[in-house]
Amino acid sequence: LSPTRASSATWASCWPDSPPGRGSLSRMVVAIDGPAGAGKSTVARALARALGFIYLDSGAMYRAVGLMTLRQGGAASERAEELELQIGERVLANGEDVTEAIRAPDVSEAASKVATNPGVRAALVKKQRELLSDGDWVVEGRDIGTVVAPEAAVKVFLTASPEERARRRADELGTDVDTVLRDQALRDAQDTAREHSPLAVAPGAVELDTDGLTVEQVVERIARLVEASR
Ligand code: C5P
Repeated sequence: LSPTRASSATWASCWPDSPPGRGSLSRMVVAIDGPAGAGKSTVARALARALGFIYLDSGAMYRAVGLMTLRQGGAASERAEELELQIGERVLANGEDVTEAIRAPDVSEAASKVATNPGVRAALVKKQRELLSDGDWVVEGRDIGTVVAPEAAVKVFLTASPEERARRRADELGTDVDTVLRDQALRDAQDTAREHSPLAVAPGAVELDTDGLTVEQVVERIARLVEASR
């Protein structure tokens, strides 16, 4: 999944006038869930840009709680409740820029671990719902279509083969595929098997296998779903 930018020609042919979402009276949520490395972030970011929607990376919230719990210890649910987050181009946690720090491998593991905690999930789902109560959003995560916004106008479950997902991640991080494949299998197992809000396809979600597709093609398919739901 190479990070190609949605070309204006492609988007212009979908929407000749102005991007949808702008000026629309009702809020709209596009939920994009799926396992690690399926291309959610790249696709969700590009889709939000193309539609003029706001992008929310819910994983960054779990990562911030993972980071604070690693650093400060104590109950992860308390770290989640006290967390003041600002998520945009940069991620600020309690006023500190943690954009790079939350991507470290030990924080990925910590995020996946704290995400099994129902107190952490309750605190973060509450924050996410508050954000989504106004405006048009593209939100990516694991439980957006199942828990956070089951009423989302469009729900997509992005997948790709484990090998393809590991290859993309290894390219991004500059590490070897086998290490990524091992870490990924662990996180997949943890995310799918956990008791609270496990990774699952939401009722009504469209499953999209991204193997062999470019970012542009995936974005286009989801954009067509958005258009059809209006
Ligand atoms: O998406 P990302 O890999 O950044 O998410 C980090 C971890 O946060 C995931 O492995 C998952 O355990 C957790 N997560 C979650 N629910 C979400 C988003 C992320 O449980 N909506």
